[in-house]
Formats: sequence, structure tokens, C-alpha cells
Amino acid sequence: MEQFIMKTKVYMGKSALEHLKDFQIRRAFIICDPFMAESGMVKRITDCLDRQQAVYEIFSEVVPDPDIHVVTKGIGHMTAFAPDTLIALGGGSAIDTAKAVRYIYEQGTSEKKKCLIAIPTTSGTGSEVTSFSVITDREKNVKYPLRDDAMVPDVALLDPELVVSVPAAVTADTGMDVLTHALEACASEKACDFGDAFAEKAVKLIFDYLETAVKNGENQDARERVHNASCMAGVAFNSTSLGLCHGMAHALGAKFHISHGRSNAMLLSHIIAYNAETAAERYTKAASVLGISSPTGKTAALNLSRKVKQLRDKIGIPEKVTSLGISRKEFLDAVPEMAETALKDPCTETNPRKPVLAEIEQIFAK
Ligand code: NAD
Repeated sequence: MEQFIMKTKVYMGKSALEHLKDFQIRRAFIICDPFMAESGMVKRITDCLDRQQAVYEIFSEVVPDPDIHVVTKGIGHMTAFAPDTLIALGGGSAIDTAKAVRYIYEQGTSEKKKCLIAIPTTSGTGSEVTSFSVITDREKNVKYPLRDDAMVPDVALLDPELVVSVPAAVTADTGMDVLTHALEACASEKACDFGDAFAEKAVKLIFDYLETAVKNGENQDARERVHNASCMAGVAFNSTSLGLCHGMAHALGAKFHISHGRSNAMLLSHIIAYNAETAAERYTKAASVLGISSPTGKTAALNLSRKVKQLRDKIGIPEKVTSLGISRKEFLDAVPEMAETALKDPCTETNPRKPVLAEIEQIFAK
């Protein structure tokens, strides 16, 4: 029997942030990165909390690709403050940190579960609605996607005004993360009609609006649509899981410190081509959303792969790691180790075609 769980209450659109008042918050523990504190973005949250006379503490030590040390430190601060609500403000790094903090904190207590409100400020990870939290081991240069339904946030506030300030390059990288989530959900071994409904819509929104959001970040409509797409893709992959692109992106990102979205963006068209035959029918459905129709499924899948590559080029994401200052030799030397890590990554399990080590090495080399 299959399940489709959508636990998070989602508020979307301009002023979604105002809905903070709908929750009886008395003591809020806000988790964010230093940029959110320095740029004044966190003040938009504390102003709302002030109006409802809530007290709060700000933990602004989140780092990109969070590690266990920041999670442990967050748990210490949370224990001392004893909040009734956690608010995660930021990109996937802040939201994943908050999810892990709450989860681990609650393992050691019989207290009532704390409410977690996730407020994404990037349009990429969908972490505000998923049961995943990706934690990096910096000593081993490996990313671990932890998964438990208990980690899913209770509330997500999708306010497009919070993403207007995202720089073009981050908009491009995170937007391609959305597309990867959606297309891996469509092609997953666990793909289902419910997941497809969200994933296919997200694919369409990304192809229609991402380029505008990257090139004209002030365009509210494009920002809002990409923000919604990010959450919808999160809903989809939370039920279907992901695939080889994520397995390889985790290994690549951890080894060479390439952002998660960019790692996915550099790999996605290659993975679609690799899966084209096995998942021909699933990709054909996704491609048809974009008006790509062709006589055979595999051709449609390959056309989709080309479309993905074209979008990546249009928004300025390079294809080769050498464009990022990594030498060809250094990269190729790391391929066997990255391929082994990718093969073991839990996301790889639901890829429609079962890869062997040599195939992953070949895709990296491409
Ligand atoms: P991020 O959270 O690391 O943020 C990237 C950069 O953008 C940071 O420097 C941040 O300060 C800045 N930023 C964020 N919001 C901004 C704004 N409004 N204006 C200007 N700058 C802003 O990046 P991300 O891509 O959102 O998250 C990546 C992390 O999420 C990785 O660790 C990845 O593995 C994880 N992830 C988790 C899931 C999940 O389901 N939990 C899914 C995909 C990725």
C-alpha cells in the first residue's frame, strides 16, 4: 500500500509572514544564518513577534551545508531557552539545522513536541515540507541525508518578498535544485500520481519563470512562482524520494564545496540521459508538460535532457567543474571515492536505473 502524507500547513503569497500571528507563540527560538541577522531580515520576524508580545532568542550560527557541531550548539541554546516554538528562517541550511535540532532535542525528553515554523528565504530545497535534513561530516567530506517523518515542519510560510534579495547566481543554483527535485520525483521508482501532480506543476513553473527570476530578481510574479514551485517539488519528493542525481550531487558538493543546487544542475541533464531508456515513459509524461512530444519515449527523455541543459546554460551555470577552478586531475583523482559515496547514498536507491560503480564514474567524468 502506498501513502501520500502532506503534514505541513502551508501559507503562500505576499505577506504570508503575517500568519505568524495565527500561532500562539510565547517563546520563540529563531534559527538562522549570520546573513539573516546582519541584513535585518530576521527583524521582519521579530517585529511580528513583538506585536504578539512573544519573547525570543536568535541563534544565528548556521553555516552553509550544516554539520553536527552547529546542530549540537543549537540544541544547547534551545535547552537553555526552553521555547514553545522554533522558527527556521533561511535557506535549506537553516531549515535543516532547525529540523535536526528539534529532532535530536526531543529524543531525550518526554516534553510536548515543539511547533516548528519554517520560513524559506531561498527557492530551492523544499526543506520546509520534507522529512529530510542533510548534515555534512566535514572531517570525512560526506553529506548524510537523515530522514524521519518526525522532522517535517508543522508550518511553512512562503513569502515571496523574502526571496527578492537572493543574488542571481544563488537563484539559478537553487532553482535548478527545484527542477532536480521535481524531475527525480517524476522518474523515481516510487513515483505515483499524487507525486506527479506536484512535480509536473513544479517542472512547468521552473521552465516558465526561473530565467526571469534569475535575470530580473525584482519581478515579484516570477519570484512567487519559483518559490511555490520549490515547495511543490518538496511535497513531491517527500513522497517519492529522489535519485542518482542527488546521490552524486551530495558526493560532489561535499568533496569540492560546490553548492547543492549547482552540483545538481551540473549533473541533471546527464542523469536524465543515463535513465532515458529505463524511465522513458515517466520522462515522457514530464516532457509533455513542456510541450515536448516525440514518437518514442526515449527520444522524449533525451529531448528533455537537452531542454534542461539549455535552461542551465541560459541561467549561467557552467557544465564543467574546471570552470569552477578545480583542476581536471584533482577532479578525476576524486572520482572513484565520490562514485562509491554516491552509490551508497540513500537517494540513489530510488533511481529508476540501478547504477554500477563504473557507470557513476563515467557520468562524473562527463
Ligand atoms: P543555503 O541555505 O546554504 O543558503 C545559500 C546562501 O544564500 C547563504 O549564503 C545564505 O545566507 C544566502 N541567502 C539565503 N536567503 C537569502 C536571501 N533571501 N537573500 C540573500 N541571500 C540569501 O542554501 P540552500 O540551497 O537553500 O540550502 C542548501 C542546503 O540544503 C544544503 O545543505 C543541502 O544539502 C540542503 N538540502 C536539504 C533538502 C531537504 O529536503 N532537507 C533538500 C535539498 C537540499
